[in-house]
Amino acid sequence: MTGPGTGPVMRFSVDGWDPGYGTSSDPEEDLGESTARVDVTVEMPAARWRAVDPPPGLVPPAALLFVDGVRRVEARVWIDDETPDGTPAHEASAALCASYAAGVVCCCRGQAHLVQAEPRRGLFTVAAHAADIATWAGTYTAERTKPAAGRPLAQTLSQLLQGRLTELEVTVAVGARSALAGHGIGDGDDLLIVDGPLRQREHLPRALGYIKSHRSSYLPPDLNALVSTLAPGQRTPVFLMGTSWDRHSWYLRLPRTGGPPWAGVVRVECSADLAVADVIRLAGLSQTCLVRFSSTRYKDPRAPQNLYPISGLERELRRRLGDPRLLYRALSRSAAA
Ligand SMILES: [Zn+2]
Repeated sequence: MTGPGTGPVMRFSVDGWDPGYGTSSDPEEDLGESTARVDVTVEMPAARWRAVDPPPGLVPPAALLFVDGVRRVEARVWIDDETPDGTPAHEASAALCASYAAGVVCCCRGQAHLVQAEPRRGLFTVAAHAADIATWAGTYTAERTKPAAGRPLAQTLSQLLQGRLTELEVTVAVGARSALAGHGIGDGDDLLIVDGPLRQREHLPRALGYIKSHRSSYLPPDLNALVSTLAPGQRTPVFLMGTSWDRHSWYLRLPRTGGPPWAGVVRVECSADLAVADVIRLAGLSQTCLVRFSSTRYKDPRAPQNLYPISGLERELRRRLGDPRLLYRALSRSAAA
């Protein structure tokens, strides 16, 4: 059995629809790597650690670019092993069909506007012979990787999906920056805010990672105690942290209306390769800029850490992923064909 000029047709089947796919743990959140190496003396000696006020008179950049991505597994599929003579296969490899999208919201001149929104669909698999899956609701581009010894397949596939999403976020961020001149923003007069860790995006200039959840404490207990005493707009001194990768980081308090001691606390990251003066300047910019966009006043259930340009962007990106039930039906039909 052969397809139109592309070798054997890939046979696959689709698992029952599981609405739980869409609610799996958010890979953008802090992975909670607890074995961090931390240097707390980047900005000041540990003995002098204190809350740092927003720098007075710091002029914010003309444009803030908020970058985010969303992902959703549409179905788990089974790709039949290749058989040389087209006889039915006895083995099948589990794979994921997923939709993902990345986009950028630009906040300039007191308004927020969408500048990039790129949806994609992929078939994430370790089957070397996997081919694209075409359906009437869209084509899933085959994205292959090798199985990793000792790692569950589900984790390998999830990381492959996350890697493609990260690449797409870099693409849209670079695209958004090159479009800025088109609406009158001077070269370099911008700041990029990535929702989630900055990992694999550290090379982007003037970029911050924005982390809303805190599953691990990275600071020694006596310094960590400073975080819960921060007033809105204040931050901790900068520290350098290394887990599987290195970056500068600091905790920042957004405006809040009561709540537990860490309510409104976010952790911000920037590249480990920057000079200390540049890092401190970025930390100051985060204090000046991010506070303006915290969503206390916008009644977001995750307020105030969920910045409202990011909430709006996420909603728009999810909309562009399409209707999951429709996508599932389209996949089932292609499998049966
Ligand atoms: Zn703009």
